Amino acid sequence: MAVGVLALQGSFKEHIAALRRIGVKGVEIRKPEQLNNVDYLIIPGGESTTMAKLADYHNLFNALQEFVSTGKPVWGTCAGLIFLANKAVGQKSGGQKLIGGLDCVVHRNFFGSQLQSFETQLAVPKLAEKEGGPDSFRGVFIRAPAILEAGPDVEVLADCPVPSDNARTTIPAAEGKKEKVIVAVRQGNLLGTAFHPELTSDSRWHSLFLKMGKEAGERNLMSADESHLE
Ligand code: GLN
Repeated sequence: MAVGVLALQGSFKEHIAALRRIGVKGVEIRKPEQLNNVDYLIIPGGESTTMAKLADYHNLFNALQEFVSTGKPVWGTCAGLIFLANKAVGQKSGGQKLIGGLDCVVHRNFFGSQLQSFETQLAVPKLAEKEGGPDSFRGVFIRAPAILEAGPDVEVLADCPVPSDNARTTIPAAEGKKEKVIVAVRQGNLLGTAFHPELTSDSRWHSLFLKMGKEAGERNLMSADESHLE
């Protein structure tokens, strides 16, 4: 089992360290052909326009989109979530190139700038159901996005109350999202979190992500069995 971590910029080293803590080796991905050698891909937090420019420069876009369409697990955290979404809105999102695949509208910098970065305890019952432990998780939000809309195939894993002093009130696209916003989702092989699990010592999101590969393998085996019956 090889887990690739897109290593163009951002918190890729932190993801590799988090994987190491659960005994899994992360492989830094910078070239399209390196994606052939991995079964999973993590797209870290960082700065999504810079990441997109670097991905373009390294000719990675097609390979990343192909990887997503193979059904192998892909997890985007923060900027990685933006990069994986079908649509980005909000501050500085005009014309920004995205990998897409995740049927969500993501608002960049929803919670405001660096000054409004925060940590909060999120209710994530699904995490406890799958991984044990408490049904909450310490969410580290750094210039974080939020998911404003999620398609019918998207399972919401966590939402977050919007801090009352939040800068989003000045952003028209966020009108009507005053109480809470979605911050963690799963859609088949795709996982997205607006926060940074790799910056905490709780490895359950990484474990959950790795289980998605096993589930995808089982799904493929089942459909192979079914096609055999046809
Ligand atoms: N604000 C960044 C962006 O829009 C994301 C921040 C992060 O990944 N911590 O790309």
